[in-house]
Amino acid sequence: MSIKNAMKLVAVMNRDWWQEAGKQLGYPKCCIDSFCDLAHVDEPSRKLNGTGYIPCLVCNEKTEEELIAVITANRDPNIMPFPLGD
Ligand SMILES: [Zn+2]
Repeated sequence: MSIKNAMKLVAVMNRDWWQEAGKQLGYPKCCIDSFCDLAHVDEPSRKLNGTGYIPCLVCNEKTEEELIAVITANRDPNIMPFPLGD
């Protein structure tokens, strides 16, 4: 099994967990779905690289400021503000 297929298997197994975690973190559903489909694996350079958030191709066209505003608005207030460490 290739690494990509192995990662795909793990992601599918944990899909519900990722959906819930991503929602609490304020990530858009389109991006969570895209992440669970591992659409980013062969193409790692997306906006907000290193924050833990990986935008889908559509959201990757938005500015980082727009993305941060959306995530901040939807984020569980008990979680540290996005992006971490900024
Ligand atoms: Zn998206």
